[in-house]
Amino acid sequence: MVDLKGQYAAIKERVDSSILNVIENTAFVNGPEVHAFQKELEEYLGVKNVIPCANGTDALQIAMMGLGLKPGDEVITADFTFAATVEVIALLGLTPVLVDVDPVTFNIDVEAIKNAITPKTKAIVPVHLFGLAANMDEIMELADEHNLYVIEDNAQGIGGYYTSKDGTKKKTGTIGHVASTSFFPSKNLGCYGDGGAIFTNDDDLAHIIRGIVNHGMYERYHHDVVGVNSRLDSIQAAVLRAKLPNLDAYNKARRSAAAKYTKAFEGQENIITPTCFCDASDANKENCDCHVYHQYTLKIVNSDRDALVSHLNENGIPCGVYYPIPLHLQKAYLDERYKEENFKVTNQLVKEVISLPMHTELDDEQIEFITSTVINFVNK
Ligand SMILES: *Cc1c(COP(=O)(O)O)cnc(C)c1O
Repeated sequence: MVDLKGQYAAIKERVDSSILNVIENTAFVNGPEVHAFQKELEEYLGVKNVIPCANGTDALQIAMMGLGLKPGDEVITADFTFAATVEVIALLGLTPVLVDVDPVTFNIDVEAIKNAITPKTKAIVPVHLFGLAANMDEIMELADEHNLYVIEDNAQGIGGYYTSKDGTKKKTGTIGHVASTSFFPSKNLGCYGDGGAIFTNDDDLAHIIRGIVNHGMYERYHHDVVGVNSRLDSIQAAVLRAKLPNLDAYNKARRSAAAKYTKAFEGQENIITPTCFCDASDANKENCDCHVYHQYTLKIVNSDRDALVSHLNENGIPCGVYYPIPLHLQKAYLDERYKEENFKVTNQLVKEVISLPMHTELDDEQIEFITSTVINFVNK
């Protein structure tokens, strides 16, 4: 699904010398590399504050802690996402409220959010799923109207843009009150272990969060709030500093692979290719900047998705089903408030989606083999 070795080979010298430098300087935690990375990422994103932390799940949790969300507060998020999003809501004693997603974008459905808002609702967590921005204009409007916080889960969307109705363009993760991301190795900007970060333009919130990540300390050995230990280590920061200058090129390579996949599937009635916010005719051009294809995810209709997975595996083609079970049907998150009729889209998507190999090193021959194997199977 990913080719981390190929990517490493291309940046080996830079990465190796950065890592060696950290080892020689022995500033393993919160060293100058972490600080430098923080500044470089702030500049890249155009956001006032980046707070590095240990992983993307912590980033979400710390963002919610920073906002002062309290047990009993309801937090609305998508039923169709990675479990981390709902996990931290539950872990903090907040009440997760899962809602359905849009069948075309796979992102949280704004009408469903509207229907789920109650006087206890305090926050919305849109996920820029698979690298495509959620409908931020409408989500921010709704949040303003109901006085809610918006926490963007940008673990899959880093480097992508969202274009507002008025034409303004912002990077995902810089639109809500606060955002989280992950540097897990397979993410679009991945380190060589675990890593994550929180972004916000709110300086006061950033200050609160900087204390929370470090045991609630704002002054050495003064613990003003209950915090956590969640730090990015310097070796990971060194890797990220070496890779950040390539992020736009990495995302471009993903888009280019996505455009080739989509072209190959043109005219296939049983295969629905991913979409984005650009004009439809422009949707899959390499220079489209609203999708960073963390995953390239098809919907397989009128054919057996699970049999296709086996067929691809038998032919040596890795593929993934993200995600096979709606969160509202996961044992840990069952809740009698949920009604099946409110999850029609997610319940259908889990049967139809399949993600093909997507990384920065895919070549034309691989793409041709993958697409022809898929096409032959669905038409047989
Ligand atoms: C990967 C991911 C996370 C969690 O990130 P980790 O660094 O693995 O903790 C959270 N949300 C989404 C949508 C993700 O894809």
